[in-house]
Amino acid sequence: MKIDKEIMSYCKYCKKHTKNVVRNYNKKSQRGLSLGTRRHNRAIKGYVGSIEPKIHPKKLGKKQKVILECTECKKHSERVFGMRTKKKIEIGR
Ligand SMILES: [Zn+2]
Repeated sequence: MKIDKEIMSYCKYCKKHTKNVVRNYNKKSQRGLSLGTRRHNRAIKGYVGSIEPKIHPKKLGKKQKVILECTECKKHSERVFGMRTKKKIEIGR
């Protein structure tokens, strides 16, 4: 899938359509002090191993996410492309 470097998109901060710079999305590490992480750590503390049965459903590819930066207010927003694909997004034509 190919996307332009700059696309017109709705900015929720400016409340109108503006030009947006497209960037790749990089997944960041999970927060260690979030409620879910603390609850999980509490549950597996001691002699207990995994607490939930692991089910691995087969999914074909991932939904691709990009980050849009508004050129007017410089704020960021995310956009997810709904299709599951194995191909990564190429930015810039
Ligand atoms: Zn904006």
